[in-house]
Amino acid sequence: MTLLDLRARPLRDLRISITDRCNFRCTYCMPREHFGKDHAFLPREALLSYEEIVTVVKALLPLGLEKVRLTGGEPLLRSDIAVLVKMLRTCGPNLDLAMTTNGALLKANAAMLAKAGLNRVTVSLDALDPSIFAQMADTTAFTPDDILEGMDAALGVGLGVKVNTVVRKAVNEDEVLALANACTERRIPLRFIEFMDVGNTNAWTLDEVVSGRQIRETVETVYGPLQPEEGQNQHDVARRYRTSTGQLFGFINSVTQPFCGDCSRARLSADGSMYTCLFSSQGHDLKAMLRMGATNLNLQEAIRTIWGGRDDQYSVERQHASSDRDKVEMSFIGG
Ligand code: SAM
Ligand code: SF4
Ligand code: SF4
Repeated sequence: MTLLDLRARPLRDLRISITDRCNFRCTYCMPREHFGKDHAFLPREALLSYEEIVTVVKALLPLGLEKVRLTGGEPLLRSDIAVLVKMLRTCGPNLDLAMTTNGALLKANAAMLAKAGLNRVTVSLDALDPSIFAQMADTTAFTPDDILEGMDAALGVGLGVKVNTVVRKAVNEDEVLALANACTERRIPLRFIEFMDVGNTNAWTLDEVVSGRQIRETVETVYGPLQPEEGQNQHDVARRYRTSTGQLFGFINSVTQPFCGDCSRARLSADGSMYTCLFSSQGHDLKAMLRMGATNLNLQEAIRTIWGGRDDQYSVERQHASSDRDKVEMSFIGG
């Protein structure tokens, strides 16, 4: 029987943060002043092992799980990541297996990931201009070309590829059309994400949000009117539009057009807690259960209780939410 939460939403999608570490320091996610040299990342033993991750996924499959997304932090920093992908593929041949990555290490890993059974990657890329890229990602170790090469390598081995771009007012607004062009040339969907108030470190203000609607208008100046895609899946986070030539653009308008009503996503943090909302303050510790020898049935029961009591709809309530609410960081909970 499908597991439903208090708002009748099923659990279809699990996002797993497999590491809280990252080789970028995006200003909107892991600002260096909070994630600097002194930041205490999780020790190895605090991370869920691949076997533990697979145990959680196996418990969720009979409850209606359809899709797993590996994320982080930067998932490609975890060693032998293809081993995990292969293990997940074995436990669910029809499972939709995706990864969100900053793309810096994708060129070296794409073939292995595809061979292990990954279906798709979403590559985050905020600018093609090297200095704006360096400013957004706060790194000089990689360039936009490295990320484009990663994307091309993924396409070359048959992985599905989408691009995610977070737009920050007066920082990378002028990159929208260049990114649209790069994705159109490659015939891959580009999704623009509104800058969100995730966590407590990114100094978010509403003034810095460029709405999906504004971005769509910018895209339309070059591509002409965008037509809404028919038959969109109600659980998808992006509103999808096509140009007259078929290029796909998505708009993840989490701030201006919240989509909590259809949210079927659970999250597993790097240290093994389940979160029922990106903006949760607290998770449910599954790692302790796993390490005390919980059976598949024990886990299922726990997850039934957690999801059955879920009432979250933070984005809908954002305007009324207290600004000092304690929220977990995105790199920890998984974007
Ligand atoms: N490191 C990988 C990456 O960047 O793709 C995976 C983890 S990252 C947390 C997942 C996604 O969250 C990325 O597409 C990133 O742009 C997005 N993200 C992080 N912080 C955000 C914020 N404050 N607002 C909107 N999107 C954000
Ligand atoms: Fe790292 Fe991804 Fe966060 Fe950027 S958005 S700091 S790449 S985890
Ligand atoms: Fe889902 Fe929470 Fe985001 Fe709403 S705010 S869409 S409930 S993760």
